[in-house]
Amino acid sequence: MDVSEKLILWYLEQKRDLPWRKTKDPYKIWLSEIILQQTRVEQGLDYYHKFVNTYPTIGLLAAADEEEILKNWQGLGYYSRARNLHTTAKYIHSKLKGKFPNRYEEIIKLKGVGPYTAAAIASFAFMEAKAVVDGNVYRFLSRLFDIETPINSADGIKIFQAIANDLLDKKKPDLFNQSIMEIGALICTPKNPKCLLCPIQSKCLAFEKGTITKRPVKIKKLKQTIRKIDYVVVENEDEIVMRKREAKDIWQGLYDFASIEGKDSANPESLHDLIKSTFPKTEVDSISSGPVKEYTHLLSHRKIEARFWKAEVSGVLEEKGAYKVVAKKEIKKYAVPRLIHRYLEETGLV
Ligand code: SF4
Repeated sequence: MDVSEKLILWYLEQKRDLPWRKTKDPYKIWLSEIILQQTRVEQGLDYYHKFVNTYPTIGLLAAADEEEILKNWQGLGYYSRARNLHTTAKYIHSKLKGKFPNRYEEIIKLKGVGPYTAAAIASFAFMEAKAVVDGNVYRFLSRLFDIETPINSADGIKIFQAIANDLLDKKKPDLFNQSIMEIGALICTPKNPKCLLCPIQSKCLAFEKGTITKRPVKIKKLKQTIRKIDYVVVENEDEIVMRKREAKDIWQGLYDFASIEGKDSANPESLHDLIKSTFPKTEVDSISSGPVKEYTHLLSHRKIEARFWKAEVSGVLEEKGAYKVVAKKEIKKYAVPRLIHRYLEETGLV
């Protein structure tokens, strides 16, 4: 029996019961794949159910309000995925008459869809013979063939894709792709792989040579950069001023507060100046003498060090440009980054 046959047999017996494996609907498969990019299956499950129930068709997702979609996405991070989801739904609904493209070459043109996701949708929904290579597949193949080429190098990407194409069962691309990802997720795990339960152990070169812990090889990532943000939360008894992040930057389309960035020296005076220059008609009663909350928040290549200061106003709050006056009891309707949600939660605002 060859590797692909063994993998498929193992998969049919051991696979996890996941809802997106029980459908051939490309819309639902696409949703699941976008949600699962950068997200663990256990966390992705709740979001998958939420999106499928709230937007059962691509037309309903296309017609939805972007802020509502971002709100439903809240907590998953990497918000560009949610914005791309909406853009693509609108494109398919209006330009393709609601029909999801059914060939890899067309699917890969969709916004937010790369080679892995296009191969997954093409093979799961349309049985097209395209091999998927995700993190689990890289790890499994690097051990099976004991490959030293870094998986995140230009050469590595080509080599691993070629090996996966070669192994692919062209008649059962859906089952083969699921099985190779599943064995990486359940058996050939990053730490302590369960080699004794592995159906491919007799063919595994890394097992034979004792190099499992050295595979896969990766080129070291770029150093993390630090971004410092001082937020000033302007509020009166019932309302708060929130800012919609409109620039092409982190958290685009989500809400946070007025801020000063990159300075270690924010203090009540500089924050007072910020409020007066942004909201000239606002009379500030008081600004906290120091930050009321401080958090460190990790993004993919960035560390955010955020401090929150509180400014109290007894009169009317000003609304201007990206700044919006929000009733405190309505805050939970706004999509906010996880960092802001933490502040709102810990200060009793949500
Ligand atoms: Fe991975 Fe071990 Fe199986 Fe090799 S034998 S493929 S290292 S689980």
